[in-house]
Amino acid sequence: MTRDACVLLDRADPLGAMRDQFVLDDGVIYLDGNSLGALSHPAIKQVRALLEAEWGRGLIRSWNEAGWIDAPRRIGDKLAALLGADPGEVIVADSTSVNLFKLLAGAARLRPERPVILTEVETFPTDLYLAAGVVDLLGGGREVRAVPRTELRESLDGRVALLMLTHVDYCSGYMHDMRALTEAAHHAGALVLWDLSHSAGAVPLNLNACAVDLAVGCGYKYLNGGPGAPAYLYVSRHLQPEMRSPLWGWMGHASPFDFSPTYAPGDGIARYLCGTPPMLAMAALEAALDLWLSVDLETAWRKSRALSELLIRLVDERGADLGFSVASPRDPWVRGSHVAIRHPEGYRIMRALIARGVIGDFRPPDLMRLALTPLYTRFVDVWDAVDRLVEVVAGRAYEAPPYAQRLAVT
Ligand SMILES: *Cc1c(COP(=O)(O)O)cnc(C)c1O
Repeated sequence: MTRDACVLLDRADPLGAMRDQFVLDDGVIYLDGNSLGALSHPAIKQVRALLEAEWGRGLIRSWNEAGWIDAPRRIGDKLAALLGADPGEVIVADSTSVNLFKLLAGAARLRPERPVILTEVETFPTDLYLAAGVVDLLGGGREVRAVPRTELRESLDGRVALLMLTHVDYCSGYMHDMRALTEAAHHAGALVLWDLSHSAGAVPLNLNACAVDLAVGCGYKYLNGGPGAPAYLYVSRHLQPEMRSPLWGWMGHASPFDFSPTYAPGDGIARYLCGTPPMLAMAALEAALDLWLSVDLETAWRKSRALSELLIRLVDERGADLGFSVASPRDPWVRGSHVAIRHPEGYRIMRALIARGVIGDFRPPDLMRLALTPLYTRFVDVWDAVDRLVEVVAGRAYEAPPYAQRLAVT
């Protein structure tokens, strides 16, 4: 595969023009959209309009007149299209961690006779911590059972209240079979909660077709909602009447502006709101989602797979002799939209690579992660990134002393 061939692939890319919607400096190849998606021009425009017109001139009237109060639900409905959910099943609020807490506690209390929250050991730490925190809070002999991936199915016994899994693994990019595992959990009488942080905007999703009960995910990764963007949660229509949020905030009340002294949960998904939505952040997320909704999703997923296939092929061709190996699944149907590359000097190599304008990230002990975001990554970016990776290692540039020092955020 030559660089010229990549240029031709970009010319033929039906999503090629989408890149112009994003703010990306010429000297930068951005392959970290799985940690923080890029800024889009529509997001700038929408945040500016919110600041100047809606807040600046509209003031408090904008809660009604600019539709601020409906934003969590409205943006949730837009997101539902990307998740394969129905309108009214998704709401945008809080952080992924807080939403996990709401759904873990709500689900545990739907199966009081079953003490176990089942998950896998390799999952993202905040998911493990929140499950442990919910068990600690609710007591009653509850426990978190975190098992290796290969033991998940056999661990689904009559004691499991909830199976909680990250759909696409944040390190390796491994993607679970959502449909099969959801079915297995239901067969065992358990509910299922999927964390979609590395899935939405990265891979096809159809929560309804997979009969998923619960899900959460991030707004700031592939969705491009901005640093610390509001997160989302999904509760399947059939669970909505019986399940409750443990956080009885006034925004989740059946009628917040009655100012009643007693709590009554709102209808459906509305009860999972807690406090006032952060409108500046909501505006950025909504603009970013509108971009997503303007593209053909099948085309986006196809491009994601083609980009990651190209990266793997180039790393195999040019990196194997330099100690690189691909740590992600090679089958694109069990892989998300990032590729993890293993190298014993991964941390220093990534620092040297970032200094040369190729931005990815590092996860211990030895994984470099490169995300292939279909809306703004070009095929030629992948070629250039691998070229610089090879250059940094072949020329031993990563041995420069500053790169050995760990930064606070990797
Ligand atoms: C990124 C990520 C989170 C982040 O949670 P925050 O509350 O936004 O910090 C949670 N879970 C998974 C699986 C993630 O990848």
